[in-house]
Formats: sequence, C-alpha cells, structure tokens
Amino acid sequence: MMNMRYLLILLLFGCLSCQKVLKIVDRGKSEYVIVIPHSYSDAELKGAYALQSFLEKSAKVRLPVVHDTTAWAEKEISIGSTNRLHHITEGNEDLQDDGFHVFTRGEKLYIKGGTGYGSLYGVNELLEKYWDYRRYTSTVEIVPERQSIVLPVDIDDKQIPVLSSRNMLYRCADDESFLDWLRLTQTTINSNDRGKWGFWVHSFGTLLPAKRYFKEHPEYYTMNENGERVPSQLCLSNPEVLDVLCKELDKWMEKKPDAVYWSVSQNDSYNYCKCPECSKIYEEEGSPSGLMIRFVNQVAKRYPHKIISTLAYQFTRKPPKCAKPLSNVNIMFCNIECNRSKPIAEDPASKAFREDMSGWAKLTDNILLWDYMVQFSNLYTPFPNFRTLQPNMQYFVDNNVCSVFAQGNPQPAGELCHLRAYVAAKLLWNPYCDVEAVIDDFLTGYYGAAGIHIRNYIDLLHDNLELTGEGLNIFGTALDAIDGYLSPSRLDSYKACFDRAEEAVKSNKELLDRVKIARLPLVFAELEQAALTPVGDRGLLGAGNNDSLQISPSYLGSLDYFYTYCKRNGTNRICEWRTTIDEYRDEMLDMPEQYRKMMGKENKALGKNVSVNRPLSIYKADGVMSVTDGILGARNFNRNWLGFKHENFEIVIDLGRQEMFSRVNTRFLQSIYDRMFIPNGIDVLVSNDNKRFVPVKKIANEMDRSKIYKTKVLEATFAPQNSRYVKIRVDVVPVCPSWHQDAKTDAWTLVDEVAVY
Ligand SMILES: [Zn+2]
Repeated sequence: MMNMRYLLILLLFGCLSCQKVLKIVDRGKSEYVIVIPHSYSDAELKGAYALQSFLEKSAKVRLPVVHDTTAWAEKEISIGSTNRLHHITEGNEDLQDDGFHVFTRGEKLYIKGGTGYGSLYGVNELLEKYWDYRRYTSTVEIVPERQSIVLPVDIDDKQIPVLSSRNMLYRCADDESFLDWLRLTQTTINSNDRGKWGFWVHSFGTLLPAKRYFKEHPEYYTMNENGERVPSQLCLSNPEVLDVLCKELDKWMEKKPDAVYWSVSQNDSYNYCKCPECSKIYEEEGSPSGLMIRFVNQVAKRYPHKIISTLAYQFTRKPPKCAKPLSNVNIMFCNIECNRSKPIAEDPASKAFREDMSGWAKLTDNILLWDYMVQFSNLYTPFPNFRTLQPNMQYFVDNNVCSVFAQGNPQPAGELCHLRAYVAAKLLWNPYCDVEAVIDDFLTGYYGAAGIHIRNYIDLLHDNLELTGEGLNIFGTALDAIDGYLSPSRLDSYKACFDRAEEAVKSNKELLDRVKIARLPLVFAELEQAALTPVGDRGLLGAGNNDSLQISPSYLGSLDYFYTYCKRNGTNRICEWRTTIDEYRDEMLDMPEQYRKMMGKENKALGKNVSVNRPLSIYKADGVMSVTDGILGARNFNRNWLGFKHENFEIVIDLGRQEMFSRVNTRFLQSIYDRMFIPNGIDVLVSNDNKRFVPVKKIANEMDRSKIYKTKVLEATFAPQNSRYVKIRVDVVPVCPSWHQDAKTDAWTLVDEVAVY
C-alpha cells in the first residue's frame, strides 16, 4: 500500500514538472517581487497587499512590494499600470473601470486593471480561481497551505463585468475588504457606488422638507383625493416647485462637489398628487411617470455635468408615452411587485413588469435595476428564490440595464444570508457564472461536512415550491405557504435534513453553530404557524389539567431557541422595518394569553351567526363568519383578519337563544405602516329582538404609537346579561394621524374574532 501512495505522489509531481508552469513559490522559497506604479491607486495598493498577504498565509513566504521606479527584476508580478506595461501591447487595451487582464510574459506575471478597481479584482481572481483561496464571509476564509504555488505559463484571463456598477445591500457582507473581495462597487459608508452619489433615493422629503415649507406653501405638495394638501409627495406641475427644489439642490451639491449622481425622486409613499394640473399630464402620458420625467429633465438641464437619478417605482413604474429621459438622467427601475417563485422573463404574473421594462429599455440605456432578494416582512421565513436569481440577472442585462442594486437583508443575519449575499455578488460580476457550482462550493466551504445536507434542504425547498406552483412574495409570511412548500409534513422533511447536518458536524462547535443558525427559518416558520392550529402538537397551547389551555412547552422551547440564536448572531429585527427580537418574544409570549382569552371552551359565540353592517373588501378572511370560527388571525394581517376601511362599523352576533354572559372579548390589530389601527373604542350592546339594543359597556383605547405592530384584545366586562344578540359598535380611527407618512389618508380597522363569556 505504501508503494502505491508513493507512486501516486511521484506521478503528481511528475505531471507538474512536465507541465510548463510559473513557479511563484517553489518549495517554500520565492524570488518574485510585487511591482506597483510609483503613483499607485487605492486598488493597485490593495491588490499588492492582498497578494502579499495571501502568499504569506498560504506558503509562509513574504514577497517584497516595490515601486516601478526600481530596476527590473527577472521575476516580477506587475500589478496595475506599471511602466512594465510600456513594452507590451496589452498595455493599451480598454478594460473600462473594473475589468482586468491577467497574463504572463516569460517569467513575469502581469495583472492589469481598468481605471477603477480592476487591478484589485484581477488579484482576487488569481487567488480564487488559480490558488483556491476563498472568502465566504467577512470573517470566514479558506487559505490552502502549500509549499509551492504555481501558475500555467500560458495564463491569459481577461474579464470586463457586464454591469458597470454592482451594488448590494446585505448587512452580513458589509465590510470594506469583503465588499472588495466580492467586487462590489460600494463601500460600507455608501451602500452605492463608492461615494459617487449625492443622494441615493427618495429625496423629495430631503429637498423640500415639509417642516420648512408645508405651512406656508401647501401648494408645493400632494393634493389627495379629497382636495386637501398633504406633505406625502410634491406637486410637480407647480413651476415654483422646480425653482425651490433646485435652490435646495444647489446647497447640497456645494457640500458634496465630487458627487456625480443626484437623486431627485419620489418619497416612499403611494400618495402622489391628484390636482387637476398634475392629473392632466398623467392622462397625456398614460402614467404619472410622464410628469416625473418632464420635471426631472428640467432639473437635469440645469445640471448638465451631473447625472440626475429618479425612480420608476410603484405609481411611476409604467414608462411615459411622450417624455423621454435626457442623457444625463438615470432611471432607477424597481421590481418590488414581482413574484419571486419564477423567473421574471417567463412568469405570467410578471407580464406587466416585462412590458414596463422593455418600455424603459427603449427610452434609455441608463437604467439601474433595483432588485429585491429577500422576504422583507419576515426576514427569517424560508425563501426559496435561489433558482430565479440567475435568470433574473440575465434578463436585466438583456434589457439595457447597466447597473444593479440588489437589496437584501438589512439585518446582520437572516435566512441563508451569507449564501445569498455570496451568490448575488457572483451573479452581479458575471450573470453567466456556474451558479450551482458557486452554491456547492460555498456550502462545502462554509458548513463543512454539513454542507451536503443543507444542499439537500435547499433543493427540497425549491423542488416543493416548483411542485406546488405557488407564488413567493417579498412581503409574504410563513402562513402563505402552510398548504404549500411550508406545509407541516414538508417542514418535517426539512428538519430531517438539519438533523443530519447537525449530526455531521457535532464535534465541531463552530460549524455546528453555523448549522443551528441556518435552521432558524424552520423554527421561525413553525412559531408563526403555531397560531393557526393553536391547540395540539404544533400549536402554542396544549390541554392542561381540568381541560384548561396551557402554553405548550415545545412552543416555549422553539421560542427560546429562536431568541437565543438571533441574539447570538446579532439580529435586531425580524422584519425590515419593525419588530425587534425582544418585541417578537414579548408578542409571542403574549399570544397564548390572548388566545386563552378568545378560545375558552365556554365561548358562547363560537360558530354562531354573524352580520356586519359594512361590505367586506380587501381583508375578508373567509367572510363574516370568520369572527366566530374559533380561528384567530395570526401575527400577519393577511390571514384570517376582517378589514374595514375608514368608517365605523357594527358586528352583531346571534347566540341562537337567550344566554347569560358578562364578558365580550374582541381582538384587533395595529400595523402602523400598513395604515391599520386599533379602534378608538368599542361599545357593547345587547338585545333580544335584534332591533332595540341596550348599551352595557363602553371601552376606550388609546393609540400606542410606540408599537409599530401589535395585536390586542379589548375586554368588556359588565353585569351579567340574559340576551340573544350581542352588538359590537366599533369607533374606528378613520384616517392616518397627522404624524403618519400617509397623513389623512384612509385607515383600516382589522378584527379577527369575538368571544362571549
Ligand atoms: Zn399637483
């Protein structure tokens, strides 16, 4: 056996020596020097030190870094625009900003870069592709230890990225040197294009702050449907707005004279101006974007040396019929509405988006595509969109997109965050890379022996999504998929993958921790779903002594696991814009208590007839009978909640016969950004003929602005009544309060259940 092994080593060495290679390090020694220009750029210097540091870690050899003013040596690695290039034709090629060319001449190695960061990216490519160096996160790297480090002598690797600007918001990747490694054109300070931007997005509020202008000039701002002026957006048909805005913009530009891109764009609110003048232009243009482009073009004319960027987002997504963006106008085109379970290019649900995309592509080639990669409403829900990332990126570049901003998880952790950030960055650099190989490489490198099991989980998750054909919404929930890819039995099969993954790395604490963190989305999905089947194995309540409902120990265990590992990995929120981990735990601990209030087995309203005096529109659960069906709406409002817009309403429950009762519990929801508020109060009334009602209790509720999201049971207790009909008269919050971003627009009241005891 020993001989065989010896023979194998001999063969390997034999192959290596007969192949023509450049020996950068030969059995622990190197004669090479790293050469950079005398006047070097940031990228050239970083490239030189990245190479030096790698060789030191990998082969324990420290190569000197010298300027190109030193005498030529026989063995050199030239990085960037050194004078060494003057004598070879490759010195003249155009590599644009971030392209690079790695090649050899004799015993010399050249890493030539474009005017931006190409030199550094060329070094990165060398280390990664030829010498197997990996960086999977800002802290996890794999450095192969080697005695000899060689390169094929005929290496000739030239790459120019198809996207000239590659930006990604993913907090877990937000580290300067790691962003460089991922070849992203952003820094940790600006999550966009290395500080070239003065304003990034949603700048109307900054340019014309309502605090400064609204009181004296309400006419600068949105007119809502009722003819009132509100400070949500600007009234762009008002010529004064252009002058005032440009004066403000001048001041900002003075502060940042080097910034090239200036966003002049709508706020993050739907409430655009409905005044007659603005509306007339929307009509002519077939879209509110027409007025936006006319306005932005006028700004761009005043700043011919800057690029004025604006949004094609939500109400401005559809391109205009007549207006055409000037050459110094950039369009940030956003795909926030798109389904994520199928590639945009072929998904029937994305037809309207495709029409808009090709419309804009005909108008301009200065398009930044704003892509959304995670479930923002629930950052820990399993979100199987990996199979769409590549076809979508290819679709974007096929449609005149020159720049992409991939918006990911704003929290430092979240569902498969390191993997998704890594894959997205690879696709931003090369939309045609072998993405399956990238995923495999990451999983093996980052999770070790557990990687294969996590791969199985990811495959299973995506296979199930394809099998069920369901959609995937960036504002969805784990409840949307309870009958689909997140059904209880499918969750069990995913858990089995993680059991095997944990088993495979049980003796390695570091890897085991990574696997336990990767499991969090399954724990989260089960916690979320526990409210839908509240009593039983998967519920938040179990039957206790005396038939009472007790909080389930396994639910508490899962909640504790979720809380502990979220805290450990630095997660602050479970949703992009609300719900801290502490708030989540409080809510989830309060949930069983709320359920007990609503689900007592003595509830006399259960299954009884319900009527309401207002029509149901968007939030209709399974109709009015949902109020007494014993199924509560879960944390997310899009399941089992009845919603009433704007006006007061009444719910009447017919108990079927006269009953004695002294308590009525009604459960409501608040989600401030979704314009949903717990009512100002309720009146409980009783009757025996469903005509003459007698009031028995009035309850007031004070709005709790500190909680962006909450559910609450309003409990009305009163002297025992013997009645057949119970009426709950709901005094709603009719419009968003003045402090709200959608001030004075219609608000919703959501109710899920009424219990009578
Ligand atoms: Zn207007």
